[in-house]
Amino acid sequence: MADTPSPSTERRSSDPQAIDEPQPVVVERSLTVRPRSQSSSVWSWFRYPFIAAGVALSLSPLASLWPGESPVDPTDYAERTRRVLQSTPLIDGHNDLPWQLRIELHNRMYDGRVDFNKRLLGHTDLQRMRQGMVGGQFWSVYVDCDAQQTHFEDPSWVVRDTLEQIDVTRRFIREYPDDLQYCDTAACARSAFKSGRISSMIGIEGGHQVGSSIATIRQMYDLGARYITLTHNCDNAFATSASTVAAGGPDNGLLKLGYAAVKEMNRLGMMVDLSHVSHKTMRDVLSVARAPVIFSHSGAYSVEPHLRHAPDDVLRLVKQNGGIVMAVFVNRFLNMKDPDSATIHDVADHIFRIAEVCGWECVGIGSDFSGTPYVPIGLEDVSKFPDLFEILMERGATDEQMRMLAGENILRVWSTIERRAQEIRATGEKPNEEEYEGRDWHKGLKNAPWMLRQSRDKATTNGGAERPYMFNVDGEGKHNPLIKQV
Ligand SMILES: [Zn+2]
Repeated sequence: MADTPSPSTERRSSDPQAIDEPQPVVVERSLTVRPRSQSSSVWSWFRYPFIAAGVALSLSPLASLWPGESPVDPTDYAERTRRVLQSTPLIDGHNDLPWQLRIELHNRMYDGRVDFNKRLLGHTDLQRMRQGMVGGQFWSVYVDCDAQQTHFEDPSWVVRDTLEQIDVTRRFIREYPDDLQYCDTAACARSAFKSGRISSMIGIEGGHQVGSSIATIRQMYDLGARYITLTHNCDNAFATSASTVAAGGPDNGLLKLGYAAVKEMNRLGMMVDLSHVSHKTMRDVLSVARAPVIFSHSGAYSVEPHLRHAPDDVLRLVKQNGGIVMAVFVNRFLNMKDPDSATIHDVADHIFRIAEVCGWECVGIGSDFSGTPYVPIGLEDVSKFPDLFEILMERGATDEQMRMLAGENILRVWSTIERRAQEIRATGEKPNEEEYEGRDWHKGLKNAPWMLRQSRDKATTNGGAERPYMFNVDGEGKHNPLIKQV
């Protein structure tokens, strides 16, 4: 059932050649969404003639019924959306608000400059999250990657800044206990929703943020991160990024350490996020993944040929893998030729296309709100999520499909990943100890209280073990600069 594409997907051809042609129908339909207040009150009074038909339809297999609820006019998309999102958490895969806390506040939140309860500039605040019926949020703890840094010698500041972003995100969540609940399991996300809170999870947006270190992946997991995007816009020791390929660079796909990283993430239960990676990286990961993958904020390449999106063959692999592609709202990914004219309907096109190729079990929402200033007409901020559901329903999506899109899919994917990790650990698989090729350990250290004879023998041959002292102090307890140079 869920794999059946809606007839309305035909509104836009899936042929990449046709995508670049003008789509006047999009403009024509772009503002058909009604404001919440009207759709549930005034507007519906004009619909008496439809009520009888609505009741009749509601008794058919098309009925939008949920246990304990009265029938609803199937064309009352606002009411259907309200019911879906009241009973199923809408979980967004990617919001960059923590980045704003960093760049605008230097992570200082107790001096009264920001109140998340009040209306803020930008895309995200509590008032609008509630209006948008958000039920759960993966907060991105992003920090910049440095395209020049190809050898990973000094990832320390990036790892430090990532730790600071995890810290500020967790402190932020704690500041609003009535509305936000920190979660690191799928079960927690469900129970938070039941208690009326927005589950708040942490995702890391790039392998550079763990210093291309598998040990650091483990530590980030312990600190609460639940997904890592293998790359951001720079390559790292794990994988090749889409940006590299877009700039004309080679697509080397998943690199040697990347295979080890994916293996370890599967063992840990850390979600492997394939947004931002190159197409070969996507294919390579899907050929070895032992658990479902996610795309925290991407779309369908056959709708718009931007390399950030998943091509159809990858969508088919995701279907086999049981993973999810969470639809992104960034203008330039939606309309490469004229980003300013991107609309909510473009996002709907991506969702229908992902569902058509991969099944409704594959779709999710991954806005990138607060991470990009450029969002589509009709999806201006977090309050607008329900409008997207209304449009999808208007174009033929069922309530059940909308529940999967909203949160059932990501929760299923997440709990499958958790279960697979338990199974893998139960086999006795040890933590992975791979490192990137050419890693330089312990510069300058030649002397030590050796544990292994072979280490001492090696040090003897390079002169290190001949030195009598391991501390920079001579026999009289004075600082000895000569020994310091050892
Ligand atoms: Zn991103």
